Amino acid sequence: MTGSQKKLSFEFFPTRTPEGRAKQVITRKQLSQYNPEFFSCTSGAGGSTKEGTLQAITDILSEGVAAAPHLPCVGMQPVEIIELLQQYKEMGVRHIVALRGDIPSGMGSGMSGLRYANELVELIKTEFGSDFHVEVAAYPETHPQAKSPRSDLDAFVAKVRAGADSAITQYFYNADAYMRFVDEVRALGLDVPVVPGIMPITSSTQLMRFSDACGAEIPRWIRLRLQAFGDDTASIRAFGLDVVTHLCEQLRSQGAPGLHFYTMNQSVATLEICDRLGL
Ligand code: FAD
Repeated sequence: MTGSQKKLSFEFFPTRTPEGRAKQVITRKQLSQYNPEFFSCTSGAGGSTKEGTLQAITDILSEGVAAAPHLPCVGMQPVEIIELLQQYKEMGVRHIVALRGDIPSGMGSGMSGLRYANELVELIKTEFGSDFHVEVAAYPETHPQAKSPRSDLDAFVAKVRAGADSAITQYFYNADAYMRFVDEVRALGLDVPVVPGIMPITSSTQLMRFSDACGAEIPRWIRLRLQAFGDDTASIRAFGLDVVTHLCEQLRSQGAPGLHFYTMNQSVATLEICDRLGL
């Protein structure tokens, strides 16, 4: 399979300053050369970054690229979600990343509205039919709050049965976990594309912090090497590029339908990996 047949997408988070916004425009311009299927922008649960996400989506559309806003439903009422989707539709958005989002601590039991992402997918499909291509999240290494790997797989299946068109995974550094997850999904008769989420490695402390929070496992051999590099960022970056490029090669050769990069609003590492892959 050639690179041109694969889906390629790049994720950003909303910026808070005009400088950040201007930098993001440049970053996206550099990444546009790879003809992404879309650029996505995250959104804080409970609408906490709504304005920033809207701004980024407006910018992306004005650059002539398809834009995919992330929509975490937790803490939002269905009527608010429908209003926001209507606004996105009028702006020309055709892609939504439908999520539950992380429940702010202490709010769990008292929250009304939608509880899980499958309910959001159902709402989008009921209200908007096929106006939006709906992406959902998948967890090859199991979502940290899931009761078991099986219940998490069931939750994923519920999202697909509710109408999800494709999925993007949490990042991981173990290709076997991804392949097994896809095999399990296929064994249940679902042929939805499951695109691996790729997190370039550029900083040891940042990666450890994120991975602890989202339940992504850093294999021991990678963790030990990153720790041994200490403050030597050049070595961390060089090692990270090798590891992540090799992971992408493995995933592509084993049939992954595309790659979704968590850019962290930076272009250097993602560009280098795309170059090395010959995308
Ligand atoms: P769900 O699929 O609803 O699952 C959440 C948990 O509940 C899982 O443990 C699942 O096993 C369990 N579950 C699901 N259904 C049921 C049920 N019926 N009964 C019991 N248990 C159930 N977060 C943000 O806040 N903003 C973002 O922009 C954002 N973007 C993301 C993008 C990607 C590609 C990924 C992978 C994650 C993203 N996240 C984002 C993080 C995500 O919101 C969190 O991981 C969140 O905790 C789960 O969201 P979900 O959509 O996977 O939830």
